[in-house]
Amino acid sequence: MLPAESGIAEAAAVLRAGGLVAFPTETVYGLGANALDARAAARIFEAKARPSFDPLITHLADAADLPGLIGAVPPAVAALVERFWPGPLTLIVDRPAVIPPIVTSGLDTMAVRVPDEAAARALIAAAGVPVAAPSANRFGQLSPTRAEHVVAGLGGAVDVVLDGGPTRCGIESTIVDARGPQPVVLRLGALPVEALVEAVGPVTVRPGSSGQPVAPGTLAAHYAPRTPLIVGAAEPAAGDGGRRGLLAYRQTPAVGDWAAVEVLSPEGDLTVAAARLFDALHRLDAAGVTEIVAEPVPDVGVGRAINDRLRRAAATWH
Ligand code: AMP
Ligand code: MG
Repeated sequence: MLPAESGIAEAAAVLRAGGLVAFPTETVYGLGANALDARAAARIFEAKARPSFDPLITHLADAADLPGLIGAVPPAVAALVERFWPGPLTLIVDRPAVIPPIVTSGLDTMAVRVPDEAAARALIAAAGVPVAAPSANRFGQLSPTRAEHVVAGLGGAVDVVLDGGPTRCGIESTIVDARGPQPVVLRLGALPVEALVEAVGPVTVRPGSSGQPVAPGTLAAHYAPRTPLIVGAAEPAAGDGGRRGLLAYRQTPAVGDWAAVEVLSPEGDLTVAAARLFDALHRLDAAGVTEIVAEPVPDVGVGRAINDRLRRAAATWH
C-alpha cells in the first residue's frame, strides 16, 4: 500500500509493465491495468475471479483524450462528456481497434469515463495509456470504498494499492448508452438520473438484469456481503434471539433490538448515505450477525442507485 500523493510514479510504472494497480476514484476503488495490453487485462479477470463475459470500463485522464482513442465522438456522447466529465458517468462508445476484445468481453462497444479524482487522473496520465478498471473487489462481493477493503478482499493479487482514503461518492458510476435517439441508463449510479434529464432531456432507465447482452455485467445478484441480506422495514424479529444487524437510513432504532446497527445518514442526506453504504455493509458483514436487514431509502436521486445495490445484494440470497 502506498499513499496516493507519493505513489503515483511507481504505480504508473507498474501499469506500464503490465501489472495491476488498485487506485481511488470518486466512486469506488478501481483495479487498473493497461487497457491496450490484453495480458494485463486478463490479470484483472483472474484477480477478481470475474467471469470473462463481464466487460471492463476504460478510464482516461482527460476528456480531451477521448477523440484520440475512438476518433469522431458522436454528438450526443460529446454533449454528456462536456457536461459531466470528469465525473461518475460512464458512456458507451464503439470499441476502437487498439482496445483488445478481452477488455469489452468481446463486445464491439466499450464503456469509458474520466474519473473526478486527482490521484486517479494523475495515475492514468503518468501511465500514458488508457486504464481498464472494474471495482477492486472479488466478483459479486461488496464494492471497496477504502484501501483497506481492497487489501482485505484482493490481498496479494494486486501489485500496488494506492491509498487515497475513503471515496467521495461511495457508489459506482452511472452507465449511459447515448448512441441511440434517446439516452438509455444501463446502470443506476452516483450521477442521479435527474441530473441527466436536466442536461439532455428524457432518458430511458433500463438497469439490466442478467442476460441482457448490452450490459452483461449488470447482474441481478451482485454487491453482496457474505452475510444474508434482506431489504425491508426495520422491525425486530419476534423474539427469536437471533443476532441480526440493521442497515438503517436515518433513524436509530431502539437499543437492544439489534446486535449491530449502522445508520447511513441521520440528517437524511442521500449523498452522505451513498458515500457510507458499502463501508457500513463491510462493517455489518464483519459484526458476526446471522442476517442483515437493510431499509430501503427514498427512491430519488442517488437513492435509486442505493436501492438498486441493496436489491442486487439481497438477490444473491434468494
Ligand atoms: P464495474 O467496473 O465492476 O463497476 O463493472 C463495469 C460494468 O460496466 C459491467 O459490469 C457492465 O455492466 C458495464 N459495461 C462495461 N462495458 C460495457 C459495454 N460495452 N456495454 C454495456 N455495458 C458495459
Ligand atoms: Mg464491480
